[in-house]
Amino acid sequence: MAITLDDKEILKIADKTMPKYCLCDHCLGRIFAKIDTGLTNKKRGQLIRDGLNKSKKTEVKDCWLCSGLCNEIPHFANLIFESLKDYDYDTFLVGTKVDEDILAREHELFEFTGSDHSESIKTELNREIGKILEKKLKKEVDFEKPTIMAVIDTAFDVVNLQISSLFIYGRYKKFKRGIPQTRWFCKICRGKGCKRCGYTGKLYDSSVEELIAKRFLDEVKGNEESFHGCGREDIDVKMLGNGRPFVLEIKNPIIRKLSLSKLEKDINSKNEDVIEVNSLRFSDKDEVARLKSSEPRKVYRVVFKSKNPINSEKLKKVALSLRDTKIGQFTPSRVAHRRANMVREKHIYYCSIEAIDGSMATLTLETESGTYIKELVSGDDGRTKPNISEMIGTPCEVTELDVIKIKGE
Ligand SMILES: [Zn+2]
Ligand SMILES: [Zn+2]
Repeated sequence: MAITLDDKEILKIADKTMPKYCLCDHCLGRIFAKIDTGLTNKKRGQLIRDGLNKSKKTEVKDCWLCSGLCNEIPHFANLIFESLKDYDYDTFLVGTKVDEDILAREHELFEFTGSDHSESIKTELNREIGKILEKKLKKEVDFEKPTIMAVIDTAFDVVNLQISSLFIYGRYKKFKRGIPQTRWFCKICRGKGCKRCGYTGKLYDSSVEELIAKRFLDEVKGNEESFHGCGREDIDVKMLGNGRPFVLEIKNPIIRKLSLSKLEKDINSKNEDVIEVNSLRFSDKDEVARLKSSEPRKVYRVVFKSKNPINSEKLKKVALSLRDTKIGQFTPSRVAHRRANMVREKHIYYCSIEAIDGSMATLTLETESGTYIKELVSGDDGRTKPNISEMIGTPCEVTELDVIKIKGE
């Protein structure tokens, strides 16, 4: 609905307001902003003032409410334009921080007019600055998920950028034992660096996370990262086969346009025989949640040693009886300090013998997500039942463990 200047209600409100408050056209128009979205507040204010006939124009700088702030819209747009210069982004959103005094005056005005159609000065600034920038940048405002949110503090002419993280999905393989998946901070100094950790702040020199993330951080000029793995393997376990899915989150990236295939090659050639990545693609926050909640089956290669020579007939029977069966695992003693104590039922889908050599044997096991393999072999002092040690009648211990496939991911 267009404003009709004979609209008595609008003119009545304006008529009682203008003598008391000297308002610029922006601020006058804003009292009735929600009546018609086809006009700018400035234009609407001008029409209303014309309709009042007697009211003379108030310059923006003399406005009781904004004291000139509404004149600064192009200036603010420019400040944001400059601060966005170095960044890669598809969409943006403008936010404004407005002086408390102005907001208090606005509150007083809206109370006085009693109009249900008014709009906050912040909304006007955000929208008008956004419109200028859309043209200038040839990029769109996105209210839901902007790549960058630029908040201008109008009292200080300072732009604060909130940059959305860059998410990269991939799968990693780990060919070497002794490398943790993520950074493991020194327990004594908690990452600050101390004598015990050689002032590195870390318990291990490197991690899958660091080997992958460093290259990305350099490339996108980000300042921080988080590594979200789809589960994790123990430090001494290799991750082979199709690799383990992960999402790398890079915070505050400047560059977002990447050649993932080139990065994949770089990372792999630099870390030959240590780690490898594949299937890199761009991802998002939702995928992190998906990975965290997914429970893919895993296939392992397990080498174990028994106290006495292994009776192969017996082990064959054990392997058969472990096919498609359920075991109960009470929280292993080695993780008891970080997991609730309870019995977890886990499905063993498949078990086959690859080799038996004296007191050593190699198995292939396919299990439900979250099965503790070392404990399935050792029995963990009876906490896992049934277990291989008990079934073949001699204590056994895993000597080598590799994840050879992560299924259904
Ligand atoms: Zn004003
Ligand atoms: Zn330390």
